[in-house]
Amino acid sequence: MGTPATALSHRTDNKMYRIQSPQTPVVRPPKHNEYGLDNFPQGTNAVVAVISYTGYDMDDAMILNKNSHERGFGYGTIYKTKKYDLQEEAVKVRSMRTVKKLYGFAPGGYVKAAQRVKLDEDGLPMIGALVQYGDNVAAYHEVEWDPASNELRNKDGITHFQKYKDNEDAHIEEVRLIGAEEGNTPNTIISIKYRIPRSPVIGDKFSSRHGQKGVCSQKWPTKDMPFSESGIVPDVIINPHAFPSRMTIGMFVESLAGKAGALHGFAQDSTPWKFEDKKGNTAVEFFGNQLQAAGYNYYGNEPMYSGITGTELAADIYIGVVYYQRLRHMVNDKFQVRTTGPINSMTGQPVKGRSKGGGIRVGEMERDSLIAHGTSFLLRDRLMNCSDYTKAWICRTCGSFLSTQPTVGAYDSKSRQAGTGIVRCRKCSTRAQSWTPKSEMWEDGQGQKWVAGDNVTVVAVPGVLKYLDVELAAMGISMTYDVGEA
Ligand SMILES: [Zn+2]
Repeated sequence: MGTPATALSHRTDNKMYRIQSPQTPVVRPPKHNEYGLDNFPQGTNAVVAVISYTGYDMDDAMILNKNSHERGFGYGTIYKTKKYDLQEEAVKVRSMRTVKKLYGFAPGGYVKAAQRVKLDEDGLPMIGALVQYGDNVAAYHEVEWDPASNELRNKDGITHFQKYKDNEDAHIEEVRLIGAEEGNTPNTIISIKYRIPRSPVIGDKFSSRHGQKGVCSQKWPTKDMPFSESGIVPDVIINPHAFPSRMTIGMFVESLAGKAGALHGFAQDSTPWKFEDKKGNTAVEFFGNQLQAAGYNYYGNEPMYSGITGTELAADIYIGVVYYQRLRHMVNDKFQVRTTGPINSMTGQPVKGRSKGGGIRVGEMERDSLIAHGTSFLLRDRLMNCSDYTKAWICRTCGSFLSTQPTVGAYDSKSRQAGTGIVRCRKCSTRAQSWTPKSEMWEDGQGQKWVAGDNVTVVAVPGVLKYLDVELAAMGISMTYDVGEA
């Protein structure tokens, strides 16, 4: 997230990410000014401590200072623009006769107060109003061209509403009247820009400019954060294990340079291999000397105290100033929850995909893991009971799902009931003869009579298994199952 444009109030991008309280970086290359990048700031100079603290910064997680966050650190906004068009079908030539709907409340009509709380007198939403899923964002009414009076007339007095259809709460930022293409008809198109506040929450992603990205895992209050001898509390805590394998030495140097720059009050040049002074010619020496001149440790380490116990930490902590960016990957766009929900009609399994209310797949590797744990009942719960559990008729004799079929009872004039709910195997039965007792006979849907095939039972199987059976049958492969004796 950053500052994507200058004239934000004149833009109608479908989606735009913006950071609200950005700063210019302390550490920057000379081209920064040449390109005018201060017009497009994209991050914050954060005090970063490299320490394993409370365990919440394990792996690539990072701890945020809750009070920094409350002062605006990393506060972001998403702007979304939606277009609402009353003219549904494409009309070749627009004239007053083709106008069927107009924005605004139906003149003389009755509208409930609850339906217009977020709307102004013109039927358009009020700027700044908070809208939630299902809220009315615009009122319109149907009209007809009346040649006698030469105007558009509303006859029914009924007001209809355009609704806000996103699940996330938003504020109305701007409303635009787009107008008609030819200019000879009244306005039937509006565009609404929504503003969605995105204050940093646990699960949101941040990064330094060295690709050291991490997810916020906890927001500790300042009182619980470690502090230095001068009382400095870090904005961000990251784990030291993020460095050895990635070898982002540049981030250490930026931390030194940022700290020295902040102490002396100037912007630092981040160009590598050009540092020289009386005492040395490496970046570390250059910035180390600056730190020393400001009365700080040459290497950027400082003794720190635990914010929880108040005691000094056993090791000195590497702490400095690093420019941190907020990335656009946020939990609010990614979290998934499902209990029961939509299923795939072909397989009977839950659908996939966050937007469709689907589940997260228990894949092959998860399956392997459950097998390795010996938790086969959990495995069956995931793969059968919570997925495509079905009951199916199967023939014990021939072991087939497909040869079973419900019987059709002969029409009984006394009970007037057709069909007995009895299932028989068509493959294991033979045609009934004239001497077959009526009690042993069963009838299929075509009026043919059969005997036997009654060794059938119900088994619980996954729905896809039956689907596989059908697909294989279509290729001339029959599947048989050994169900065992009753
Ligand atoms: Zn059979």
